[in-house]
Amino acid sequence: DLHKTTKVATAALGRTLTATSIMGLMMKNDGDKLTVILKGGGPIGSILVTSNSKGIVKGYVSNPNVEVEDYPNGKLNVAGAVGQDGVIRVIKDFGLKEPYNGAYPINSGEIAQDFTNYFAMSEQTPSVVSLGVYTREDEVEYAGGFIVQLMPDATEEVISQLEKNIAEIPSVTDMLKSGCKPEDMLERVLFGLSPKVLEKNEVTFECDCSKERMAEALISIGKHSLTELIEEDKGAEVGCQFCNQKYNFAE
Ligand code: ZN
Repeated sequence: DLHKTTKVATAALGRTLTATSIMGLMMKNDGDKLTVILKGGGPIGSILVTSNSKGIVKGYVSNPNVEVEDYPNGKLNVAGAVGQDGVIRVIKDFGLKEPYNGAYPINSGEIAQDFTNYFAMSEQTPSVVSLGVYTREDEVEYAGGFIVQLMPDATEEVISQLEKNIAEIPSVTDMLKSGCKPEDMLERVLFGLSPKVLEKNEVTFECDCSKERMAEALISIGKHSLTELIEEDKGAEVGCQFCNQKYNFAE
């Protein structure tokens, strides 16, 4: 709604928002911040999403109007929009001097697989990432997903049970369509492994922009440019990339 995205852009942004929200929840401290940027060389341009440690996300794509032909089976061709020649960049800011910043090649463009590869390459953690966004007309009806990672001491037994489960479960979108809640998906993914729910979080898309922050951004362009704005435009309109809110500043 905020970004007026086409269906395929909605799917790409929704998948990235979901994965980034889950990864945000993996961070430990309140002030931790995560940014994921996917740039696969496709017509969507970049997808940029940030999350805090509560899984509250915001994000945008550089070309929300992107249109690509669907796959022959009628599914949205997300890889066609994202591209398969570029990088997934993950920036983790834990409030230290230098944030963690890692970039790894994109080779799927369908996003979930690209996150899986990221975990394998950056953290050497075998993971399964599954994401789904279901749109009807122009509305998102369901969106969700899961990330499962192996603990270093996982036994062969656990691994083969997990592999069996993953091979047998329906897609995330089908599970959501049939009314599955996150706990139900968990039960299916971790079938036979007696999962326990340790914590629940309400996640959402939320922007934290404000007129004060936009004023700071305006100030940072410098006296010369500000004087130009005042003399030529008699004021300024500054838009937030994340939520498209417009802020007006008078002369
Ligand atoms: Zn905003």
